[in-house]
Amino acid sequence: MARRQAENGVAGIGAELHRGERAMKLTVLGNNGTFPRPGGACSGYLLEHGGRFVLLECGNGVMSRLQTLCPIDRLEGIVVSHLHDDHCGDLRILKYAVETKRALGAMERIIPVYMPASPGAEAGQLHYPEAFDTGTINENTRLAIGDLHFRFARMMHSVETYAVEVSWGCGNRLVYSSDTTLHEGLIEFAKGADVLLCEATTARRGAVALPHMTAGEAGYAARTAGVGQLILTHFWCDEKEEECLQEAQAYFDNTETAEEMKQYEW
Ligand SMILES: [Zn+2]
Repeated sequence: MARRQAENGVAGIGAELHRGERAMKLTVLGNNGTFPRPGGACSGYLLEHGGRFVLLECGNGVMSRLQTLCPIDRLEGIVVSHLHDDHCGDLRILKYAVETKRALGAMERIIPVYMPASPGAEAGQLHYPEAFDTGTINENTRLAIGDLHFRFARMMHSVETYAVEVSWGCGNRLVYSSDTTLHEGLIEFAKGADVLLCEATTARRGAVALPHMTAGEAGYAARTAGVGQLILTHFWCDEKEEECLQEAQAYFDNTETAEEMKQYEW
């Protein structure tokens, strides 16, 4: 499989200096974990900076919402933290759109997609060279997509999973936890970030051990890492977001819950 390697250096996609507006906008396309609520969607975050678009996560339900904000031929890259379908499932549908548009002459380019190399079976199924230019990520990967810069840190989940740092402008940093249990590596990676976008799958730790964080743990991580703002996301379908918010705010006051289709700007 001819996978493009992005490790150990800057993989530039239009890395030339762009002198557009300086703000970075994030739109929450989906905030559910594992499977969507009725009418909801799983993980997807559209990043916009200087008029350029990058998709962070492409979970089930994301592609439909994405197109209300960004035509797919304007996506400059897709970053996927791990190969669970609530984070990458809509890549399988997005590839139909790219292939079809290219066949009809409505789109020329293919889309760069960055994702972990394992599990190998899943990675192989997502290798669509007619639609995606696939690169792998690991802890040494540095990406520049326009003026957005990406770094990665290995998290503790049931498959190879990376937290993602997005930086822009004069040192602004957003850290996205992806899916993980609470551990020192996340706190270290998020240290001093302006924003921590953190999974808060449940409002409390139940009897079943999950490879996920509670909202209270997200609040603890935000406080310990000394971030500026905490946004909770990746909620179980039956979870009450208000309970998650209260649990996290017991540790970290400047917390809000990720609202689907809401745009955040820094
Ligand atoms: Zn997930």
